[in-house]
Amino acid sequence: MRLKIIQAGEAVLRQVARPLTPEEIGSREIQELIAWMRETMYDAPGVGLAAPQVGLPLQLAVLEDRAEVLQTLPSELLQERERRPVPFQVIINPTLSAEGETIEFFEGCLSVAGFSALVPRARRVRVDCLDEHGHQISIHATGWHARILQHEVDHLHGILYIDRMHSHSFSTLDNQKKYWDAKPIAAVKAALDI
Ligand code: ZN
Repeated sequence: MRLKIIQAGEAVLRQVARPLTPEEIGSREIQELIAWMRETMYDAPGVGLAAPQVGLPLQLAVLEDRAEVLQTLPSELLQERERRPVPFQVIINPTLSAEGETIEFFEGCLSVAGFSALVPRARRVRVDCLDEHGHQISIHATGWHARILQHEVDHLHGILYIDRMHSHSFSTLDNQKKYWDAKPIAAVKAALDI
């Protein structure tokens, strides 16, 4: 089932989501929700989706960066962003620690549809969480995978990328493509007075 992705302005996107209990994780409702969120993310299409984005204040998010999508993108872009395939992951009740230097790229959100901006994020992160079976796991991620995790964990705390962006870089997706995609980030920042 495809769920409705809600847009900025809905209060649930600004609330701190509540943790799930182990019993809830094993329940039919949550297992169905995970399957529907996965389908909704593919359909959007997106590389991550958090429960608040479908209107539910729960500490649950799904992510995946699929090889068949990456094959359609220029290899320089994938290299620059350190974007590699990420298998389907479910993160529940996560805690995130940022590691390494901060890097900046354009980033968008399915709940701020049609826009993007330069967002500084840690290059490496560690996420401790439960998976879809309720097992404790640790995810160590770099590059784009680390960025997706930071974006999704932010959603579970009521934070959107627009809270972290360089506001001068806020752009429609069309203008990002038209003016900025081909330029190095340093040139984008110089042109936008960042
Ligand atoms: Zn988002």
